[in-house]
Amino acid sequence: MFPTLTPPQIERIAAHGRVRPAARGEILIEAGDSAVPFFVVKSGEIEIIRPSSLGDTLVVIHGPGKFTGEINLIQGRRSLTRARVSEPGEVVQLTREQLLSLVQTDAEIGEIVMRAYIYRRVELAAQGVGDVVLIGSVHSPATLRVKEFLTRNGHPFRYIDLDRDPDVQGLLDRFHIAANDIPVLIGRGDVVLRNPANQQIADCLGFNESIDPTHLRDVVVVGAGPAGLAAAVYAASEGLNALVIESDSPGGQAGSSSKIENYLGFPTGISGQELAGRAYAQAEKFGAEILIARGATGLTCQRRPYTVTTDAGQPIPARTVIIASGAQYRKPSLEKLSQFEGAGVYYSATFMESQLCANEDVIVVGGGNSAGQAAVFLAQAARRVYMFVRSGGLAESMSRYLVRRIEETPAIELKTCTEIVALEGTDHLARVRVRDNRTGATSEQEIRHVFLMTGAVPNTVWLAGCVALDGNGFIKTGPDLSKDELDAARWPLSRPPFLLETSLPGVFAVGDVRGGNIKRVASAVGEGSIAVAFVHRVLAE
Ligand SMILES: Cc1cc2nc3c(=O)[nH]c(=O)nc-3n(C[C@H](O)[C@H](O)[C@H](O)COP(=O)(O)OP(=O)(O)OC[C@H]3O[C@@H](n4cnc5c(N)ncnc54)[C@H](O)[C@@H]3O)c2cc1C
Repeated sequence: MFPTLTPPQIERIAAHGRVRPAARGEILIEAGDSAVPFFVVKSGEIEIIRPSSLGDTLVVIHGPGKFTGEINLIQGRRSLTRARVSEPGEVVQLTREQLLSLVQTDAEIGEIVMRAYIYRRVELAAQGVGDVVLIGSVHSPATLRVKEFLTRNGHPFRYIDLDRDPDVQGLLDRFHIAANDIPVLIGRGDVVLRNPANQQIADCLGFNESIDPTHLRDVVVVGAGPAGLAAAVYAASEGLNALVIESDSPGGQAGSSSKIENYLGFPTGISGQELAGRAYAQAEKFGAEILIARGATGLTCQRRPYTVTTDAGQPIPARTVIIASGAQYRKPSLEKLSQFEGAGVYYSATFMESQLCANEDVIVVGGGNSAGQAAVFLAQAARRVYMFVRSGGLAESMSRYLVRRIEETPAIELKTCTEIVALEGTDHLARVRVRDNRTGATSEQEIRHVFLMTGAVPNTVWLAGCVALDGNGFIKTGPDLSKDELDAARWPLSRPPFLLETSLPGVFAVGDVRGGNIKRVASAVGEGSIAVAFVHRVLAE
């Protein structure tokens, strides 16, 4: 987290900025400041403090050779801490733009800075050191949503549970919060948000503050799952001006995976959240901008440059567009399903959910890879995992290693020809009604946690017919587009669509949203990066 730079490294950094004196007591960075500079201590000391209404906390003291900042400096977000000169001396000062140029061009220093920044953010998150306090309850689905949003955006927060924390009453009184207002987010000292939408949280914490959406981009990427993040990394690293629009948090479906074991280069596996966090930092390091909690609501495709409209209202002009909006969980038609979402019914099985069901029985519904992974992962924490499959066995598409793991894990019990037909409970799921499809008989099972892992449908509704889709709503691209489909779409060019290009020139589709795509992280990443090669060709046309 706190490496010491050598004198030659400091000289290289100084060439990108300026060297200046620092006087004792000078505030170099104030908590809450945006557009924060980067400092390297040449001589003297800088103390990093976390200010709070309960008193200031000293985080660390930077001596000679040390440098300030953490990942939000790269992201252009507000500082969580104050930097004050405690011993006078000399510092090297770089603006954020100068720092970005340094980490992109000097591989050695880029690695030292990026690694330290990622570790510092992980440590801040682990210690709950941030500018946000969340008051919630384990019984509230909205609390789980807010926690997930903050966690998946890597934003550190302190969590106080209404049912478990003895100090909570003081906070409730101080901010005039009633118990039924929860979840409540107290941001930057005194902003109180009651049951906020993700977009409100993003605005309050300034996630999108440094981004100008009106500016014409070489490429606008819709969706920050693995495909969109890969497109952003390749586009930005190859000098394109790239903006990503993400309706929720970076990571997409992969972000909700507890452990991805088949992604090349990670022999012991990697959690989807960690993979997404690294890709997000990598995209931003190369200068890609990522709008968080902003959904694309339409594509104006009659003229170029194209325009992507968002739920925040602002139209975003784009020379080319990469659609990477992925797919969404398929939901069974069960009465009371929405009532129990987050309160006993879950669509992902990460560490967070596994904590909720420690030493309890759970049901995982589905016979594909995501269900298999969830079952194996949950079996480590839960007492018993019942795997419900509607058909006579696990899906043929399930990876062999997972089938073996399921067979070899005694805590997993596979129940074929079985499905849930009703959910019951009051505030939280308490039991389910189960049907045996062989006999038609139904029975009741006491259960507090059900994981629905039953596949996905494409996120293409927002395109409103702008590009040709297949019968299941997935986007058709390249050689899959027939002459009739191209004629119907009035394809205007003498060349056929490039691989991954849709029926609109310069608009590409990658990852799970694309018809015929193999639904894997590696293929999403591969397609996202390949599309950028064709973006260059379209821009040159
Ligand atoms: C639980 C689980 C475990 C998995 N495990 C593995 C595994 O181990 N190995 C493997 O290879 N694959 C795994 N997969 C599959 C893999 O995660 C997907 O194939 C991959 O995430 C697809 O990436 P994508 O970027 O195409 O789409 P997604 O991951 O679906 O991402 C799409 C993104 O677009 C955003 N979006 C949607 N609509 C809009 C809009 N209108 N405007 C802006 N943004 C929008 C979404 O919020 C989302 O973040 C798993 C999937 C799940 C659900």
